[in-house]
Amino acid sequence: MSGSRWAGVWPSSLTVLCLGVLALHAGRATAETCPGHPDALGTSRTLVVDPREHPRIGTMQYRETLPLRDHEVVLTFDDGPLPKNSSQVLQILADQCVKATFFIIGQQARANPDGVRKYVAEGHTIGTHTQNHPLAFQRMPADRIKQEIDQGIESTKATLSDPAALAPFFRMPGLNRSDAAEDHLASLGIQVWSADFLADDWRRIPASRVYELAIKRLEAKGKGILLLHDIQARTVAALPWILHELKARGYRIVHVVPATPAQPATPAGPEQWQLHPPSENVAISHWPRIPTFIYAHPEADAAPAPPDFGTLDASLPLSAEPIARARRHGVPPPEPASWPYPAASSTQDSVVSLPVPAATVFSIPETARATLQPFPFLRRHADDQPATTAEVKGDATPVPAPRRQVRGRFAHGRHLPQRRVHAEAGGRPTVRIATLRRR
Ligand SMILES: [Zn+2]
Repeated sequence: MSGSRWAGVWPSSLTVLCLGVLALHAGRATAETCPGHPDALGTSRTLVVDPREHPRIGTMQYRETLPLRDHEVVLTFDDGPLPKNSSQVLQILADQCVKATFFIIGQQARANPDGVRKYVAEGHTIGTHTQNHPLAFQRMPADRIKQEIDQGIESTKATLSDPAALAPFFRMPGLNRSDAAEDHLASLGIQVWSADFLADDWRRIPASRVYELAIKRLEAKGKGILLLHDIQARTVAALPWILHELKARGYRIVHVVPATPAQPATPAGPEQWQLHPPSENVAISHWPRIPTFIYAHPEADAAPAPPDFGTLDASLPLSAEPIARARRHGVPPPEPASWPYPAASSTQDSVVSLPVPAATVFSIPETARATLQPFPFLRRHADDQPATTAEVKGDATPVPAPRRQVRGRFAHGRHLPQRRVHAEAGGRPTVRIATLRRR
């Protein structure tokens, strides 16, 4: 792939004006441009990015992410095309007039060339995702990494009458990045897309959980790139709910395309390429542990099972065919999702939220050679004792960690007795010394 196509493009005042007009048009055009779907979510604007200026994006792994405004979301889908499920995803997006970015596996493109052309015909952006989706991509030799990247691009281009329809966007399989892969992609002028949040839709979880995670994690960041998989049946089932909730919560969909000489990058300052507040845009000093993605081969991809439709919110409209079909097949009526409604606190949550008991509610056996500091019980500093067993386990009310008042052979943290709190019949917890053994 030639990198020159995307290099050295700068906005002129005329194109900025045009883009502004386009953005205005897009912002109010949902009903007009989404025939038959007056309540569609729509695509609020198109963001043009220059991969060479911002070669790696997505705060899950990188310092920068797309220059989105608050409540703007970019939808991305990996691993397709897989005819059945990818087609349903395309239909759901079309019904909402939403544009997304698809990261294609070369092998899948070879097997389903019509599927690739469908993405393009629907106006979505397509990037690549290696030829074979090797799960140990980051550990492969550099030449194999290059081969996987190059072949994935070639296989995808081969399906297109206009190879320029392939954007210089790439996502690491399983988000397994490596210096070798990043260097090769940068040399090609290709932008690496990590993500800002996941919805765990490759795991064996109900579609309702995918929906919950997508919305909850988006709410936590306020904007960003959502990573989904269009080959997954549970994603097909969850997507209508996700889109409905995005609209209900005032989120807007942004479509991302690469800059070209004819279409310069949307102006955005360096600070806009970072998430806010600043605490979130500090460069990470180590690579986070990436979840193990399960790449579902076509033959391994299962049809949605009843648990996939388990606890969807009954108040949401059932517009999507997969969900409607599940209903017709006798899937039990959904119960309200545990989120965003108030959920019963878990044991651990209770531990965190319970008030700190006063010293007087504890009775200390005479044999314990320790005295407790009345307040504040949970304040610990670097030179204090480590948390007690109960705190670490989260299985009981936190027990104060004795501080410098501890005497004798218990004066050091590693010699402290392990304590547990037991609630007595009268409701007053008491500290019992469980063991005095050395660790
Ligand atoms: Zn993948």
